[in-house]
Amino acid sequence: MTDKIYAVPEAWRNEARVDAEKYAELYRRSVADPDGFWGEQAQRIEWIAPFTRVKEVSFDTHNVAIEWFGDGSTNVAMNCIDRHLPHRADQVAIIWEGDDPSLSRHITYRELHEQVCRFANVLKAHGVRKGDRVTIYLPMIPEAAYAMLACARIGAVHSVVFGGFSPDALAGRIEDAQSDVVITADEGVRGGRKSPLKDNVDAALEKVSAKTVIVVTRTGAKVDMKPGRDFRYEDEAKKVPEDCPYAEVGAEDPLFILYTSGSTGKPKGVLHTTGGYLVHAALTHELVFDYREGDVYWCTADVGWVTGHSYIVYGPLANGATTLMFEGVPNYPTVSRFWEVIDKHKVDIFYTAPTAIRALMGAGEEPVKKTSRKSVRLLGSVGEPINPEAWEWYHRVVGEGRCPIVDTWWQTETGGILIAPLPGATALKPGSASKPFFGVQPEIVDANGNVLEGACEGNLVIADSWPGQARTVFGDHERFVQTYFTAYPGKYFTGDGCRRDADGYYWITGRVDDVINVSGHRLGTAEIESALVAHEKVAEAAVVGFPHAIKGQGIYAYVTLMGGVEPSERLRKELVDFVRKEISAIASPDVIQFAPGLPKTRSGKIMRRILRKIAENEFGALGDTSTLADPSVVDDLIKNRPAG
Ligand code: ATP
Ligand code: MG
Repeated sequence: MTDKIYAVPEAWRNEARVDAEKYAELYRRSVADPDGFWGEQAQRIEWIAPFTRVKEVSFDTHNVAIEWFGDGSTNVAMNCIDRHLPHRADQVAIIWEGDDPSLSRHITYRELHEQVCRFANVLKAHGVRKGDRVTIYLPMIPEAAYAMLACARIGAVHSVVFGGFSPDALAGRIEDAQSDVVITADEGVRGGRKSPLKDNVDAALEKVSAKTVIVVTRTGAKVDMKPGRDFRYEDEAKKVPEDCPYAEVGAEDPLFILYTSGSTGKPKGVLHTTGGYLVHAALTHELVFDYREGDVYWCTADVGWVTGHSYIVYGPLANGATTLMFEGVPNYPTVSRFWEVIDKHKVDIFYTAPTAIRALMGAGEEPVKKTSRKSVRLLGSVGEPINPEAWEWYHRVVGEGRCPIVDTWWQTETGGILIAPLPGATALKPGSASKPFFGVQPEIVDANGNVLEGACEGNLVIADSWPGQARTVFGDHERFVQTYFTAYPGKYFTGDGCRRDADGYYWITGRVDDVINVSGHRLGTAEIESALVAHEKVAEAAVVGFPHAIKGQGIYAYVTLMGGVEPSERLRKELVDFVRKEISAIASPDVIQFAPGLPKTRSGKIMRRILRKIAENEFGALGDTSTLADPSVVDDLIKNRPAG
């Protein structure tokens, strides 16, 4: 895709916790002796009962069973809070930045402890016991973190549902998790707009049942309260004691269920457990982001996604970090908001998604350049392949050429980062997630399951377990086995396509379903999209295959233009030629549809499954669209689909 390499900057090399040599040495050890490596790493958290066994795993299709530190016990909230109190009670644990730029709060570890204990006692008072599922449907307010940690404290299992989801999507998740308790807020606030969270819960509970709804006040809006079912959090908190001892929780007891974002179909209730998950989240947070004592760390994800779980709440807090939680959106009140927040709170480490970077790139450099960003040392990316064009812009404009970018590949199912550079060790190639993290054994296989060697392209599998791996799909172990362990028996199948170059760097080419076969040539959608986005007039692109009489599959590209650029026949031709030149004639699009917007999941990922249906002229079979951020985009695409 690009031959560019950015060497590790000298200052980073000199200060590196893990340099290139140490990475190679530790990596070798981590795969040769996982018990030794992870047994040591697990000492970074505090255990109640120490474990004597480390890894007990079977990927055998007839008996998939995954256990780490199985006979140990601990408590995640204790590790994220109590353990830090002797030396960091007055340190800020959470910086909360409101949607309205005039609102922010600093919550110390002492205050976090008080708040989480109260919340835990409220849950207990409402009958929540170890193992019970609690649905959390909250906006990005500190109470979301309190509620998650309160569940962890008493051994309850949380299922966080993104606050942007519809009542239907919420109902499905409450029912699937068999959750009796729902925690919500009166309203959420994002981008200056209010969303009726409590009303949505009421609508969801007309379809499915729950015994108790706890309502946190965010805006003070008047909401219906159903007697006997609905309780105001603030009233309940006054009735309970302020201290709540943490429960002893088995390493393999569940910590949370999280439904995948639904880009490819019906969301799965991915189940994560306690000990291994926390070790993995904390270690990756420290090493991939080079987190250092005193850093202000900001991940812009929502707690409704796994990124928010592992890299806003659990990883950073387990490391005693200061983690920033942002209620708003990148373009409110202006497109400078991210950079203004960085300056306001002196953020050292900034972690966001390609969708946000591309959108901000479309607004030009000026809104970035008018801010300082001097505090930032490291940038991160997650969620989709980051096309080299966006990577370069992020690096040059946002990071002023001085900040390494860690492109982190992982999934809801992996619990934490599996492939990413370590900033003091790994030279960067724009668009590549680079090298596996410790203990992670990626392999590339062809359709028949043959393991490919050297530089190659195929499907990405992971040959052995890692501590943060999901253990099952809640209530449906068979689906877990079917989805991840049957395509390539004995290996975890990621569902992603991947290329490995001669230097051993991994390049995610998109989901396997998105690979297009043109006249026998396999083309990753990510590569064609990157070529389109490299054109100066293109802001965003999504590419899918469609049936083609001669080639087998043709290439259909949806293109969003930069602000101020008008679509034209000439531009269409120019783009086709451009891709031909950038990649090859085989990759040149058969159809280009100019689209003002693309259908995205609430986490900002392009839903290619819908684009495929439109390209195939099958408007009636769009499938589940309940996780779409803006369904009206789809109508526009159908209306303006070019004939043919
Ligand atoms: P579903 O599984 O329901 O279709 P989803 O896969 O979008 O939803 P997530 O677990 O949030 O849900 O996303 C993981 C996927 O996101 C990966 O499998 C990969 O396709 C993509 N991804 C995440 N990070 C990166 C990255 N750094 N580079 C390339 N792709 C990435
Ligand atoms: Mg997935």
